[in-house]
Amino acid sequence: MRLTVLVVDDEPLARTGLRLLLEQDRDVGTTIEAASGREAVLLIRDRRPEVDNMFPRCVTQDGNLTAQRQLWSVFTPTGGVWRGIAHVPNGNLRLRDSWAHVDARRHFAIDLQTLWDGAPSLLTQQCVCGDIISGLKSPRDCRLFGRECVPDMPVGACMVSSEGTCRIWHEYGVGNRPASFARSAAS
Ligand code: SF4
Repeated sequence: MRLTVLVVDDEPLARTGLRLLLEQDRDVGTTIEAASGREAVLLIRDRRPEVDNMFPRCVTQDGNLTAQRQLWSVFTPTGGVWRGIAHVPNGNLRLRDSWAHVDARRHFAIDLQTLWDGAPSLLTQQCVCGDIISGLKSPRDCRLFGRECVPDMPVGACMVSSEGTCRIWHEYGVGNRPASFARSAAS
């Protein structure tokens, strides 16, 4: 019997990549995709895939220890500015000295202080991403939201990432739905 496999990920490209890999496996008959946990639960109920989540095999309560060992063999913590929030001691990572040969900062002698002197730009100064990430404000508190800052021309990180609060509000937020969405919801 060939297996039915359910692939769950909110990134379409990640799903497609995994589906193409699975389709090369002779034991896999059907690959179905879900973009969210809810969709996955419905598909599990209706289609009954045979492949289970194997994450617990490699990820424990303490995280993925193998990945952590690899991470700390390459990086070491250092203090740094989290834009819009604060200077966070040990909040950033830098390459260890043993990886200096691939460290672009050292290779190109980049002076971060001079970069910070000219940053952020005037538009970016109005971004309140820091307060949004901290839970102090919502995207509608930003005067750039949906005007100067949109997914195609993002000003701040919250609009760049598909998981950013401003991006999600822009795409799905109440009163901000595209006309096509509003029409299909009404029908
Ligand atoms: S809408 Fe844009 S500029 Fe405003 S907080 Fe969000 S990311 Fe920053």
